Amino acid sequence: MAQVQVACDKCGASLVADAAYCERCGERTRRARRLVRVAIRVELLFFLMVCALVVGFTWIYATQK
Ligand SMILES: [Zn+2]
Repeated sequence: MAQVQVACDKCGASLVADAAYCERCGERTRRARRLVRVAIRVELLFFLMVCALVVGFTWIYATQK
């Protein structure tokens, strides 16, 4: 799992350690893609929580009349 990517998947250029992008073609490294996926998941979770809060408070408000 924690293997270090040493070359770009797209153009094969060697990568700097912990690089997020290939310096030659701009392709994201596997590590960067994984981080982006995690960030999107966290954002989605946050969005769903806000939606649940809004729906919950709307429901409480509607039932308290
Ligand atoms: Zn590349």
